Amino acid sequence: MKKRYENMETSVIHAGYDAKEHLGSLSTPIFQTSTFTFDSAEQGEKRFAGEEEGYIYSRLGNPTVRALEERIAELEGAEAGLAFGSGMAAVSAVLFALTKAGDHIICSQGIYGCTFGLLELMKEKYAITHDFCTMETEEQIRQLIQPETACIYVETPINPTMKLIDLEMVAKVAREKGIPVVVDNTFSSPYLQQPLQSGCDVVLHSATKFIGGHGDVIAGLAAGKKEFIQQVAMTTLKDIGGVISPFDAWLLLRGLKTLPVRMDRHCENAAYIAEQLKQHPFVKKVLYPGDTENKDYVIMSKQMKAGGGLISFEIDGSKEEAQALLNKLSLIKIAVSLGDTETLIQHPATMTHSSIPREIREQMGITDQLIRLSVGLEAKQDIWQDLEQALNHRK
Ligand SMILES: *Cc1c(COP(=O)(O)O)cnc(C)c1O
Repeated sequence: MKKRYENMETSVIHAGYDAKEHLGSLSTPIFQTSTFTFDSAEQGEKRFAGEEEGYIYSRLGNPTVRALEERIAELEGAEAGLAFGSGMAAVSAVLFALTKAGDHIICSQGIYGCTFGLLELMKEKYAITHDFCTMETEEQIRQLIQPETACIYVETPINPTMKLIDLEMVAKVAREKGIPVVVDNTFSSPYLQQPLQSGCDVVLHSATKFIGGHGDVIAGLAAGKKEFIQQVAMTTLKDIGGVISPFDAWLLLRGLKTLPVRMDRHCENAAYIAEQLKQHPFVKKVLYPGDTENKDYVIMSKQMKAGGGLISFEIDGSKEEAQALLNKLSLIKIAVSLGDTETLIQHPATMTHSSIPREIREQMGITDQLIRLSVGLEAKQDIWQDLEQALNHRK
């Protein structure tokens, strides 16, 4: 798709909105309305028949939401975008649109906890099976492809182990068989990584995270080919109903304006904290894509602009010691979610990934010693000071 603006720093601010169309309002108006009136019964008929452009009812489309959808499409280099009431509404609408009963999904080894829950539900209710794959080589993926394989679902960086998957490689294997590749791009945001440019087909976001950026909204986004996005809009979004509110869409439009500036600082702070953690004796392992010693650094340099704002690390200790470490922090808040201005810390084995059976969890590399840190926008020295005092407290 031809982009309207060459540079992302400009498109995050301008794409999808023209003040001239809205009485000069600099900020996108919030169309806080459930429905839209028709001039005549005939016009209503034409709108429903799709013979005339225009709004009908906010579950089917809303001007504030539309501006956001056009903006995410531009940022991901997609033909079209779609907004949802949560990241999981986006994940489920896309997966249900791509599959039918009896199908099969190949999935990266290590996915968001609720996405795992959704896959289990799809298996139980509709016999849609899935296989996990580390996706380190083309052959590993090829071996799992069945005639029923309806999509390949990828998270990279993987939550919370921060392993990376080579998107170009996955897209190449998938294309041989005409299987669509769906990428959950939440951890990177379009500023750091654009999966469609690597040949993938659909990109998803929990916009709750870096896109919103301020910890005040739950929302989701998807982008891809116009035909597919239109299909989702008119079926699994419209009929299942996980729509976003106009106000939440406005919060995301606002959050997006500062995405590049925030991401640069998230990355700078995270790189610094990762470096400090690596030197601390209580820390056994630091998992950060931007670390030049990381085994996936080559993939990171190929498909990401920088290492991102998330770090996971393993302490040399027990689950209780991991919990004690969290309890000793004061500036850093104990909370799930990520990508906020505040630095957040959580313990995946007992929090975000606790619903995954221990055996599968450990195969994914989520041990009791693993801690995930979402590095915020505070002064990096202050973040490290809090973390260091907590690490030093070890008995
Ligand atoms: C948070 C998250 C989701 C789910 O998004 P919600 O907005 O909480 O529904 C999906 N994938 C990833 C990687 C996430 O971090």
